[in-house]
Amino acid sequence: MEVAHDRVVTIAYTLKDPNGNVIDSSENHGDLAYLHGHSNIVEGLEDALEGKDVGDTVETTVQPEKGYGERHDQLVFTVPRSSMPDGDLEVGMQFAAQDKEGNQQVVTLVDVDDEEVKLDANHPLAGQTLHFDVTVNDVREASGEELEHGHVHTPDSPQH
Ligand code: ZN
Repeated sequence: MEVAHDRVVTIAYTLKDPNGNVIDSSENHGDLAYLHGHSNIVEGLEDALEGKDVGDTVETTVQPEKGYGERHDQLVFTVPRSSMPDGDLEVGMQFAAQDKEGNQQVVTLVDVDDEEVKLDANHPLAGQTLHFDVTVNDVREASGEELEHGHVHTPDSPQH
């Protein structure tokens, strides 16, 4: 079965930066199952997988505009130290936050002193060119419930 809109695709993948450093790999946490055509994965990778079959391998380079977007300096902002959780704050820590539309996003702590904390709401991979090595391991039709939710359900999916 080929990769197409509304199908659940399972891939093994390695993601590298332009210098060949591994950023993420399914070897560390198992294959990724996603719902094709629903922006579950970055656009450039979804485009590259369209029409591929089980067993196919795909090597593709994704520019930021079809990856995690460009970096925006205005997404770096400062909040009072008192508005952050108690406890040690270290550069590089990440926090889940909600934007104005209520979407989940990750902010990264980039600087901290006694008074203020500087946070960066850019995606950690924003502005990066991404290199993917992917193998298609499975393709199946999505269930009605998966299509309704816009994502894949697995036996260990949380209740929602
Ligand atoms: Zn769901």
